[in-house]
Amino acid sequence: MLSYRHGFHAGNHADVLKHFVLIELLNYLNQKDTAYTYVDTHSGAGLYSLDTGYATKNAEYETGIAPLWDRDDIPTALQAYLDVIKDLNPSGKLRYYPGSPYCADQVMREPDRLRLFELHPSEIKILSENFRKLEAHKAEQGIRPSTRGKRIMINAGDGFDGLKALLPPPSRRALVLIDPPYEVKDDYRRVKVCLEDAAQRFPTGVYAVWYPVLSRIESKQLPERLKRILGNGWLNVTLSISGPSPDGFGLHSSGMFIINPPWTLEATLREVMPYLVRVLGKDAGARYTIESGETEVSKSERPQR
Ligand code: SAM
Repeated sequence: MLSYRHGFHAGNHADVLKHFVLIELLNYLNQKDTAYTYVDTHSGAGLYSLDTGYATKNAEYETGIAPLWDRDDIPTALQAYLDVIKDLNPSGKLRYYPGSPYCADQVMREPDRLRLFELHPSEIKILSENFRKLEAHKAEQGIRPSTRGKRIMINAGDGFDGLKALLPPPSRRALVLIDPPYEVKDDYRRVKVCLEDAAQRFPTGVYAVWYPVLSRIESKQLPERLKRILGNGWLNVTLSISGPSPDGFGLHSSGMFIINPPWTLEATLREVMPYLVRVLGKDAGARYTIESGETEVSKSERPQR
């Protein structure tokens, strides 16, 4: 089923969590000289306008990036994420929001490789066009255009299947983001199967899975199942901007599950998550949780509001 368009959700609280963690992971990989590969199994359109089109329908960015936009107390560890969005909006007005491929392209270095998958026939066209414009813009500024065929490859296909051929990567360093729409139950199953296969092919890779925190059984089971894939090297962070609504509608809570996280990530999350709860939280149900496989102790917390 291909009805999902990420533009409706661009910049919401779930995107803030996902893209903040993604940029943290990439910046950690940047600390070593050896080039790495970033695989985005579900890329979306790459870039979204917030004042035209889908994003204006429910203005979901008002639950995420908008309340952060003009703050002058951004924690240091959240600044790299904000910088990517500020660079995209040089006028100072929040008009565009980056998707995961754009965030990655901005943070990654020239020798690193992006491998992007997208199945939706319209989204893949927009993604390709966005990257074409981005390259043209870089060229105008005198920045050497990326050797596109080498640095960025955009694949119109199934990301769960496509990942197999890319692992292990030549440099033995990679980050894989798995971010399906979860509109069909099968996505939950496919995430687990895909990661089990990836862990066999390339056990030292860094894998980040975004997932919605919902009352449905598949959503509750997913992180529990992912914890068993590669032993204790995992970290699970969730952000809820409110308690569950009585009618059960709406997405209030989401998580990022990271396999083989950098050792620095938990401390960074402990600095940033209370802030996100304070700024994005809508009611007393707002909270974050951080669990890590190293200690196997749940450290759920609800900060003072
Ligand atoms: N990762 C993007 C970001 O953070 O900006 C958002 C991705 S969106 C949640 C999920 C995307 O996956 C949609 O654009 C959808 O068309 C695409 N999709 C759905 N099933 C897919 C599959 N099996 N392989 C590749 N893309 C798929």
